[in-house]
Amino acid sequence: MEFQNSFAGLLRKAVVSVLIAGTLVLVAYGGYSRQREELEVRENLGILSSFLASASQSFFDNIGNGMGPLGRLLEQRDVLHHPERVRPHLLEFRERYPEVTAMAVFEPDGRMLVNTAVKTGGALPDFRKDPPYLSQLLRDMANPGAYVVSPPEFGKAIQRWRFTIRHVVRDRQGHPLFLVQAAIPLERDGTFLHRLPVPASSHIGLLRGDGHEQARWPVADANAVYGRAAGNPMARTIRAKPGQESGFLDGGAMWFSNADDRIGAFTRLAGLDMYAYVSVPGDYVWQRWWRQNTPVYSAFAIFFGIFSVIAFWVGRRERSHSLELVSQARRDSLTGLPNRLAAEETLAWCIRMARAMRQRCAVLFVDIDRFKDVNDSYGHDVGDLLLKEVAKVIQGGLREGSFLSRLGGDEFLAILPACDQDTAALISQRLLDLFQGSLHVGERQLAVTPSIGVAIFPEHGEDIGTLLKHADTAMYEAKRQGRNAFSLYMDQLGERVRHRVHMEQELREAIKQGSFILDYQPVVDMGTGKPVGGEALVRWVDRDGRVIPPSEFIDIAEDSGLICQLGEWVLRSLCAQLADWKKAAPDLWIAMNVSPRQFQDRKFIANIEDILRETGTDASRLVVEITETTAMENPEMSLATMERLRAMGIRIAIDDFGTGYSSLSYLKRIPSDKIKIDKSFVSGIDINAHDTGIVQTILAMTAMLQKAAVAEGIETEAQFNALRELGCEYGQGYWIGRPVPPDRFLSLVTRNEPLVACVPARSSAVG
Ligand code: C2E
Ligand code: MG
Ligand code: MG
Repeated sequence: MEFQNSFAGLLRKAVVSVLIAGTLVLVAYGGYSRQREELEVRENLGILSSFLASASQSFFDNIGNGMGPLGRLLEQRDVLHHPERVRPHLLEFRERYPEVTAMAVFEPDGRMLVNTAVKTGGALPDFRKDPPYLSQLLRDMANPGAYVVSPPEFGKAIQRWRFTIRHVVRDRQGHPLFLVQAAIPLERDGTFLHRLPVPASSHIGLLRGDGHEQARWPVADANAVYGRAAGNPMARTIRAKPGQESGFLDGGAMWFSNADDRIGAFTRLAGLDMYAYVSVPGDYVWQRWWRQNTPVYSAFAIFFGIFSVIAFWVGRRERSHSLELVSQARRDSLTGLPNRLAAEETLAWCIRMARAMRQRCAVLFVDIDRFKDVNDSYGHDVGDLLLKEVAKVIQGGLREGSFLSRLGGDEFLAILPACDQDTAALISQRLLDLFQGSLHVGERQLAVTPSIGVAIFPEHGEDIGTLLKHADTAMYEAKRQGRNAFSLYMDQLGERVRHRVHMEQELREAIKQGSFILDYQPVVDMGTGKPVGGEALVRWVDRDGRVIPPSEFIDIAEDSGLICQLGEWVLRSLCAQLADWKKAAPDLWIAMNVSPRQFQDRKFIANIEDILRETGTDASRLVVEITETTAMENPEMSLATMERLRAMGIRIAIDDFGTGYSSLSYLKRIPSDKIKIDKSFVSGIDINAHDTGIVQTILAMTAMLQKAAVAEGIETEAQFNALRELGCEYGQGYWIGRPVPPDRFLSLVTRNEPLVACVPARSSAVG
């Protein structure tokens, strides 16, 4: 789950980070470039205004200074007396300066002498009746400069707004002789202002030091602009500090300017009290900025769009992929059941629920009996198929709402919510019943049985670990009880299991070290009381030198499989011993106990052959003791093994006879030589008629089948006598002789004396 989130989460974070970082960078860059743009615009406006100032200055100088020679020429031509004569010169001047529309000459009193805009003979306007005009004219007449640029006036002759450049021709005393004037229109394209390379949205113009607009372009309503003091922000800025050479107009807030706000620059003309100005709309900076940065921002938007789409796509793929991984990680690939991980999660959840609801819940640990044998005999493919089949069967036996998982190997775990001991037992039994028939696996019919261990929350554990451990322990107990069973956990089982595990480890070590000894118990002829043979009985000498009897470790060795190694050790020691005793007691036979597993072991026969050969022991001196259960377990194979042993010359004794569940009639099928009557019957022989009857029957049977009978566990003289009376051939027991170490045993045997005091008298009586 962590992984699932990690990559998609990482990707999401990357997208957000790129967006945030990108936005921050762009905002910072935007601010910076806006600032830069503004500076650049101001700089450009400054340059434009100073250019405009110098262009205007040179325009005025050009015309104004050119009027000096014209004035002198007009004086020579005596313009005062023959005004019409100078008209060609005036026209020639006008031709030279295309911006000039009309040329006129005035007398010092204001009378117009000639005007190129008025045809020869036409009526000239008389400005002497126009006081504002006249006063301006007289003011200009008094100006000592080379020329005067007068403020705009509505030209009566040309019928439009215009301004004039005037030059006064004076006599030697400095008195004005006449005034030449060039009229420059303001309301027509083609004025000097139009030629400047300025931005389309800009306003350019000239403002007089007194605040009057000298020229302006473009102009929508000339009447509203000319002939009065200008009231626009630019004019206010210029007039705020009279005499300044240049400056800027920062039309309101630069960042959020509306269309009316303008920014501009102005520069004072070098030789006139006049300012040239340029202004652009407030949003001009923004427009320029946007034009400059569109590629950058569009590229970012496109990049971010593509990046987001890819990230989204990869993230979604990754999420679905990791969800798949998560579900795979919780599933057993063979059976499709949830696995241990999922089981533990579910159990944790079940425990929480049960605790909250004050309920119980049950854990069933199901293990298939002898599954290893199926794998070994039929191969893993069949084993796999069997597991799938088993999963189905178990699933079918569980009630609704139960959870089944496979923990691994042949182990299954069922979790039953809201389930007490009795219900768990019922369900376990139902599962066992479901396995009674054989399972259809591929083309085979296989008989398998489960062993089930049950643990209940909260009685047997309040956490996952304890519950699972105890269900496992209970399952082992079910196996110990003979498999195909279920067992409920009980606390002492845990202790037993721990003990067993410990013993098993110790035993393993002991086998490696060979920490065992063999004791020998004599078997006597009941007629003579003399020993004829014996039984080898193994003992374990532990680290502390304690001698541990076989009853405490044979089962463990059997369950763990160590019995085969132990059996081999016994066989080898015994054969070595017999070889050693060959001379001293050539006819002595010794019986050796062989446990079921050892007997079924494929290498059993080969081992005996090898060891007999190695030690040079005569097979006829060896007796193999097996229990009737061992003989019956795998009848065909057991029979074959017994036949082979007999073929080698080894005799076979059926140990503990009468305790197994085989009927006496089976006896004749088992190719044994001796029958050992179990001590449980022997102990009851002189007190219990029933036991006596059984012994009698066994003895009759053995006589009929021509097998020898050995009575085990004779503890009293009375038992001995009773058995002898019943016709039992051989006897073994504490009353005759306890199991003893080899040398003592040898001395008992080689003395060739009766081991039982009363025997000779009886023997002779019988004999
Ligand atoms: P078992 O084969 O029936 O051996 C006889 C057991 O009865 C021996 O116990 C012996 O000491 C005991 N016994 C003999 N006479 C009397 C008597 O008068 N009264 C009583 N109460 N007991 C008597 P032990 O030596 O403790 O062996 C127990 C079992 O362990 C044997 O029973 C045999 O099944 C198994 N065992 C012993 N040695 C080996 C061995 O080398 N291999 C295998 N597989 N099993 C062995
Ligand atoms: Mg025995
Ligand atoms: Mg026995």
